[in-house]
Amino acid sequence: MKLISRCPICGGQLMKEDVEKLLRGGSNVASIEVRAGVCHKCGEIVYDAVTVRKFQEIREKLEQNEVADFSLLGKAYVVN
Ligand SMILES: [Zn+2]
Repeated sequence: MKLISRCPICGGQLMKEDVEKLLRGGSNVASIEVRAGVCHKCGEIVYDAVTVRKFQEIREKLEQNEVADFSLLGKAYVVN
């Protein structure tokens, strides 16, 4: 996995970290833990192209309710 080493926003150093990302498709939400570059100066999180493509695939599955591959974690709520 290749990560860019400089933050595109502030030019700070990116550190490889595992981050939790929430993905939404339709009314479904999925949580995924991925390796990303985190800027320790401004907090920007940079994902590589493979990870971004994966997010897109998951969003499409969520949208079409193709959630058989996913594990149920809990219920999602909306606070009005
Ligand atoms: Zn930055």
